[in-house]
Amino acid sequence: MRAEANQDEPDFFFFTTISICFRFFFCVCRSRSKMVQYCRVQGCHHRNDRDKHVQFYRLPKVVQCQGEQTLALSEERRQLWLARLKQNLHGKNLENVRICSAHFVSGKKADLYQRDNPDWAPSLNMVEVNTSVGNSDGSMLAVARF
Ligand SMILES: [Zn+2]
Repeated sequence: MRAEANQDEPDFFFFTTISICFRFFFCVCRSRSKMVQYCRVQGCHHRNDRDKHVQFYRLPKVVQCQGEQTLALSEERRQLWLARLKQNLHGKNLENVRICSAHFVSGKKADLYQRDNPDWAPSLNMVEVNTSVGNSDGSMLAVARF
């Protein structure tokens, strides 16, 4: 009886290992597919898995530990990037926001200290977005509710 039990054990571990491997690869595939980055600019459809020639930039971070001047400059730059996006990002995870190189004159963002550089913030192909709801649509919805 013990001999049979011993023979069964390797099979059990073998199948457990295989199932763990499958789960691992499944998770890796899922996490990879989640890492697709899209350009946040309205009307721009660039994504990192398809448009290999395009660079994707995160929102510039506020630099806190390099003096007041750097802090103010980096804060101003971040706010300018957000303002240029012209989107309501309240409650959104800004860590996931990406802006592609198509919106920079030279094709890449400028250094933090190059404030006079046109690429200090994205400027090309930034579509004006009208986020306000039309009056007629608004009143129609209001009527429909009552
Ligand atoms: Zn873009």
